[in-house]
Amino acid sequence: MDENKLTSEFLSLVQVDNYDNIYSQDIKEGKYFGMPLPAIIEAEKQLKGDVDSNIAYFSMEYGLASSFYNKFITSRAIDPKNKSQEQDVFSNYRLADYFFGIRTEDLIDLPIYSGGLGVLAGDTVKTMADYKLPAVAIGMLWNTGYFRQRFWFKYGQMPEQMHWDPATYPGLIPLKNRVTISLGSEDIYLRLWKYYVYSYRQDYAVPLILLDSRSELNTEKNRHLTDQLYKSDTPWSKIMQRAILGMGGVRALKELGYNINTFHLNEGHAVFAFIEKARGLSSEEIKELKRHFVYTCHTPVEAGHDRFFAGDLNSVIKQEDFGLMYQFGKEREGLVNLTLLSMNVSSAINAVSLSHQKVMHAQFPEYKRVIKYVTNGVHAPTWISQKVMAVLEKFSPVFGDVKANPMVLKKAEDLKVDPEFRSGLWQAHQDNKQELCAFLNKWGLSKDVFTICWARRVAAYKRPSMLLQDINKLIELAKKYGPIQVIFAGKAHPKDNLGFTYINEMLDKVDGLSQVYDILKIIMLENYDIALAKMLVSGVDVWLNNPLPPFEASGTSGMKAILNGVLQLSTLDGWVFEAADKNMGRIFGYRNEERTVGDEHDLRIPDDARQLYAALEEMIGLYYKTNNKGKIDFSSSWIDMMADCLAAGAHFNTYRMLDEYKKIIWNIS
Ligand SMILES: *Cc1c(COP(=O)(O)O)cnc(C)c1O
Repeated sequence: MDENKLTSEFLSLVQVDNYDNIYSQDIKEGKYFGMPLPAIIEAEKQLKGDVDSNIAYFSMEYGLASSFYNKFITSRAIDPKNKSQEQDVFSNYRLADYFFGIRTEDLIDLPIYSGGLGVLAGDTVKTMADYKLPAVAIGMLWNTGYFRQRFWFKYGQMPEQMHWDPATYPGLIPLKNRVTISLGSEDIYLRLWKYYVYSYRQDYAVPLILLDSRSELNTEKNRHLTDQLYKSDTPWSKIMQRAILGMGGVRALKELGYNINTFHLNEGHAVFAFIEKARGLSSEEIKELKRHFVYTCHTPVEAGHDRFFAGDLNSVIKQEDFGLMYQFGKEREGLVNLTLLSMNVSSAINAVSLSHQKVMHAQFPEYKRVIKYVTNGVHAPTWISQKVMAVLEKFSPVFGDVKANPMVLKKAEDLKVDPEFRSGLWQAHQDNKQELCAFLNKWGLSKDVFTICWARRVAAYKRPSMLLQDINKLIELAKKYGPIQVIFAGKAHPKDNLGFTYINEMLDKVDGLSQVYDILKIIMLENYDIALAKMLVSGVDVWLNNPLPPFEASGTSGMKAILNGVLQLSTLDGWVFEAADKNMGRIFGYRNEERTVGDEHDLRIPDDARQLYAALEEMIGLYYKTNNKGKIDFSSSWIDMMADCLAAGAHFNTYRMLDEYKKIIWNIS
């Protein structure tokens, strides 16, 4: 078809606001910000047609890796606010910290995520596109993102407001369509934005609709409801944000003419979608409606389940809506629990790992029969580094097309006997590690030094400072076997005072170690984000994961690491529970095999730290036997483990995950 026809067909399907003045520069000649328009046209037609398997996927956050994966191009200047800024580093080489900073990819990731939940949603939507599923994603346009993290010595973390400009973010477009939700005493007006998540072949795209309360029609206060992700100072703002996602989302789907069969709720956050649909229905009709709702729970922590007092809900939403919420979500007199509500209105419910399923069963015994599990995964084309991909491509007679089918990674087991594969994989890893060392070159890292990383959200149950419990032990190991490089990164939720304390404790310890920098280098990076994650999960030797079992629902960053042949040092929790026999590294620490929900406040740090150092000692010893100052023993069992990590990636990816969702949760083929 002629290119201009494609553009006009797109414009007939999508009502772009300000097309003539602004967006015509980037949506033209058959391209959408440099990507093929037919992918979008096909997806839009499917969603507006009568397909009985259309899915609407709801999530508060999305981490799309848009700064490096399927990157859109724009002919307009990118606002400097949308580019990454130079960041400080905090290490035990303070002189370098003082003089130098670092900077990742130029374009920032679309700043509408905070951590693992968002990245999982992003990876899921990308995989939906790869599978050409008729799906649409619903989220929020967080106008001030999550937050920018600064470290302050003697304080810990200082959150700063983040600024970005949606109007010049490549691939993001405003729509002419508007929707309104009606609450008890007022209406909220929502602007709609659209982003397209392309398949890796760029032959299909899943639309992502983002809801935005910055409208002149709203009161000043309400305009800020979609400012900051997880800024929920008051029950009022929490309820409003949830109402916007759920009710606004359903209204947006209708406004855009999408026919939806399955409404997929992630967390209780989106359950207002059900209320919106159920309003005014008979009990028979509500029973039928439930068949169209499914729910994924992502948290095992008791406090993670949203609860609201009846009075707070009543002061915001309509009487009738409250009636529905109370009918289906009453935990006890005067209290509504959104997890219960979500379970009671859904026809399929799942936990995100086997371990998490057991925890949910213990927490909600009456729902034992209906709570299933689908273990999380990661999107292979996003997370496999180019270097490792090149090795897999070199062995394509064995692997075939890994991007289309990461399940073939299983074959890495058979290739363990192939010397060329062993050296290729090692070399690819060294190249990635070199890239990381170059990124931090002012800090003098070496690719032949044992390197371990802890990077994720800073939350108490994840026990961020465990590796620093006994600094003398680390120094002793470094003296005995060879130097050690440690990298930390992670944000604490701005209201999580305990999280600040952890960061401060770590900064303090690192500061006291300047004397041993030649053998023990510890580096803390600000503003952990997807671009940093991409570099770290492929560039270090060992990925450390030490949550207190059973509080990690799944965890995904270790999965990103195994796709790059990076070994695991982990407690037995989340996804690792299902991978314990896969020879991925070492497992240590407290075991809660029954997955009974123990005491979250007893973090068991001294005991588990001792076990951590014992396991670490084995790994460091083996590492330096394998890499003796650059002289490599290619027969080492270290390299067996690297291959076994890759092989485990055959299971812990989003293609396997979506196959299970299709079968167990969505009932589609
Ligand atoms: C993958 C990822 C996470 C998830 O980390 P967990 O290991 O699941 O705790 C968090 N933040 C970012 C930026 C990620 O890329």
